[in-house]
Amino acid sequence: MDQISKAAEIIVSANTVIALTGAGISVESGIPAFRGSQGLWEKYDPMEYAHIESFRRNPQKVWGMLAELYKIVMKAQPNPAHYALAELEKLGKCQAVITQNVDALHQKAGNERIIEFHGTGETLTCMACGKKYEAKNIDFDNPPPLCTCGGILKPDIVFFGEPIPSDALHQSFLLAESADAVIVVGTSAQVYPAASIPETAKSRGAKVIEVNLEPTPLTGRISDVFCQGKASQILPAIVNKVKEKLFGAKY
Ligand code: NAD
Repeated sequence: MDQISKAAEIIVSANTVIALTGAGISVESGIPAFRGSQGLWEKYDPMEYAHIESFRRNPQKVWGMLAELYKIVMKAQPNPAHYALAELEKLGKCQAVITQNVDALHQKAGNERIIEFHGTGETLTCMACGKKYEAKNIDFDNPPPLCTCGGILKPDIVFFGEPIPSDALHQSFLLAESADAVIVVGTSAQVYPAASIPETAKSRGAKVIEVNLEPTPLTGRISDVFCQGKASQILPAIVNKVKEKLFGAKY
């Protein structure tokens, strides 16, 4: 059996399916990933640009990168991979999407149960007074954006050195412990604790389906099925196979 059919078989047989997504699922929406070819880290050193201490020390410099990313993310639209996960949820075959992304593209695609493991870029908080702002109302042309009190705004995303929001952490690991199948899409599986979600699920007996352009530390060790290729092609193909198995017709 080919990898797409194996993945579909696992999803159809499972009672609880969850997805874990990373930056790779949004690459075809025009948002660069961090690692992999053309990843942002080839241009920006993560410890200089994504660590909370760097942000506190030199917000002007970090905002140089953030403003560039925001301008891309604000224009980005979901791609067929995001829509495939939304369709899977409607079919009752995706109980939750746990995403490491901060681009809100799963919401735009129509998924309803989404856990934002690394926070969201949709809102920002003043570092001085705590006032909240919506990204859509911010001018990213002259970073850093400032609060009315003069304080610097920080996106509500989790920087290296910051804790994962406790509710997201708790919900994610509860889901990992109860899932029968995990679909891992476009993550290099190098950022912990997110990368331990499929490991936890696997240790509780879940099957792990991985979709990525290239092998990761999960491949062949944690993943039962590895579908190599673009998420925008692989996920719709898996969903079509799932529908074929559920409803008997060709899609
Ligand atoms: P990563 O950047 O470390 O790795 C991206 C992975 O996606 C790689 O394994 C790469 O091979 C794969 N990939 C690239 N294009 C793909 C495609 N078209 N189809 C399938 N796979 C593809 O991403 P990560 O593991 O998510 O960790 C990076 C951290 O930075 C996360 O917290 C992430 O959310 C954050 N980040 C978010 C965004 C976003 O919100 N879109 C963008 C960049 C980074």
